[in-house]
Amino acid sequence: MDVEKKIQGLREELQQHNYNYYVLDKPQISDYEFDMKLQELQKLEQEHPEFEDANSPTQRVGGAVTRSFETVVHENRMYSLSNSYSKEELEDWETRIRKIVEGKVEFVCELKYDGASISLTYEDGMLKRAVTRGDGFQGDDVSNNVRTIRSVPLKLKGDFPEKFDIRGEIVLPYEGFAKMNAERVDIGEEPYANPRNTASGSLKLQDSAEVSRRPLECLLYTITGNNIGIASQFEGLEKARKWGFKVPGESELKGSIEEVLQYINYWDEHRHDLPYETDGVVVKVNDFHQQDELGNTAKSPRWAIAYKFKAEQESTKLNKITYQVGRTGAITPVANLDAVHLAGTVVRRASLHNADQIEKLDVREGDTVFVEKGGEIIPKIVGVDFTKRDPDSDPTQYATHCPECNTELVRNEGEAQHYCPNVNGCPPQIIGRIQHYISRKAMDIEGLGGETVALLVNAELIENYADLYTLKKEDILPLERMAEKSAENLINGIERSKEIPFERVLFALGIRYVGETVAKKLAKHFKSIDALMAASEEELVNLDEIGERIAWSVVDFFKTEANREHVEKLKEYGIQLEISAEKLANQTNILEGNSFVISGVFEKVSRNDLKKLIEDNGGKVSSSISSKTNYLVAGDNMGPSKLAKAEKLGTTIISEDDFLQMLE
Ligand code: AMP
Ligand code: ZN
Repeated sequence: MDVEKKIQGLREELQQHNYNYYVLDKPQISDYEFDMKLQELQKLEQEHPEFEDANSPTQRVGGAVTRSFETVVHENRMYSLSNSYSKEELEDWETRIRKIVEGKVEFVCELKYDGASISLTYEDGMLKRAVTRGDGFQGDDVSNNVRTIRSVPLKLKGDFPEKFDIRGEIVLPYEGFAKMNAERVDIGEEPYANPRNTASGSLKLQDSAEVSRRPLECLLYTITGNNIGIASQFEGLEKARKWGFKVPGESELKGSIEEVLQYINYWDEHRHDLPYETDGVVVKVNDFHQQDELGNTAKSPRWAIAYKFKAEQESTKLNKITYQVGRTGAITPVANLDAVHLAGTVVRRASLHNADQIEKLDVREGDTVFVEKGGEIIPKIVGVDFTKRDPDSDPTQYATHCPECNTELVRNEGEAQHYCPNVNGCPPQIIGRIQHYISRKAMDIEGLGGETVALLVNAELIENYADLYTLKKEDILPLERMAEKSAENLINGIERSKEIPFERVLFALGIRYVGETVAKKLAKHFKSIDALMAASEEELVNLDEIGERIAWSVVDFFKTEANREHVEKLKEYGIQLEISAEKLANQTNILEGNSFVISGVFEKVSRNDLKKLIEDNGGKVSSSISSKTNYLVAGDNMGPSKLAKAEKLGTTIISEDDFLQMLE
């Protein structure tokens, strides 16, 4: 009984902190404190599965996999909105309303969030189901995925109706979108095109843990249901906010179309200051009785209308098309423009994506082009002003050779991008690959940064990552801004990277499409680089979650003579290119992500064995307690200062037996 209370208490506390952070944007405790409480709850729930609850804050990290999404009929249809683009159209709309309803009409103005629409059903204050709009009559049950979105309340507060639906939009704010893209570029993947498609794509992912890692948000705007005790749209928004939903504060009540137009003009200008994408304003008749009187057409309510912002577009002259080479050799064509003001910034360059895009738009140097800025960070060219085209111009011939190393470009069947195949001789690729090799998630070489890598390559001290291990202090001292101490740090950092485990080395090699997760999978399955190098495409494709693209890329990587040479050299220098046999025998990853400190003497296992057990099962051992320590394994005669520190930081203290139980 006590445990149940404790679990409930932690759930409520965590729920409140989630709300403070994700809905109010006002965190009251540190991320660390939050994580500690969450871990405590996780542990209790594991020990007491009888108190399981799909709406527990621990469910936010996802894990449930949806193989196929069940179709659900909407109890109340999800209508679309009719659109308007001008003051006149809005005034016509008002005239039509006045013909049907009498008396004073008030309007609610809301922003039109650009994402994926969602309908959430709550019963007794608990999230019951989340369904996509689909065709408006029925959608897909994406509850497992929506549960991971932190701003969706799993349990409501205050005085809510027994049963109701609430509708909103799932969006991916610019900042999180940019971060996700940076990570993708890191592993040689194409960045996502725009936040809206990425948000709606996220809802249909099978693995909710992946959804949980995406910084999605849910903004709510309409409550529907019977006997919900709400008389107007604006009252609904205010109540929803009180029950714990994220309802943007920009919504306003207006007494006339004049005021509505002021609101529209204001946001047309200021929408770029919002953290997420919007594409218009939605105007709704406030009073629910009046809404009922007005009713719906076949497709949309008569009581609401969307006013669409004009896409921010400018025309300017395209002077030259240049080509950029990425770390993996992917070529991106870039339009170099006459500077033009767009959405509050000065634009000089725009992406042209790939050869197909250039051909489709028929863009040529010297053309006057239309530039747009949507959710993308880099603006894009959306068309050509053909009235201004020079009649003597010729269609663009896409680059045939690499702008950096002059190697002939290739394009693989079915891929949009051209590549420079000179992987080991093309400067941006050489530097980029070494930068990736040393990066934090890969070999994590302390004392060596991206700029130093470029210096080392340009000074011809290294040509590939294997060469790092031949560097001597004397070689690097003459480099710009390289002091005795930093040179030493660099050499030590390189030396220490020999302890980095095989799976991370595999990631560090920079094989296209082999990100952290794939590298782990491959390391676990093949156990050594030799076995992986010997694997055929068929063998690779047969593994779970390894698709043709990855399989091809792995085989292709090891087909290249130079890559094989580098691997051989890494082997000679003592880099971990296999999982040791001994390690293999007892290995799991149940302790992954946890950091331990050991203190005192133990009865059943020696300190050294304890340490090995932790590492073999994926945990980390450190010598002193810090805010990063998850567990203190306490034996007899433990040092009092360690204990005090653990207590102060709130580190979970466990016994030898507790620990051994964790491994079972
Ligand atoms: P449309 O898809 O152009 O017919 O527009 C209708 C869609 O706009 C709805 O399905 C919602 O997903 C979306 N929308 C975004 N913001 C709002 C809002 N404040 N009120 C109503 N719908 C909105
Ligand atoms: Zn090249």
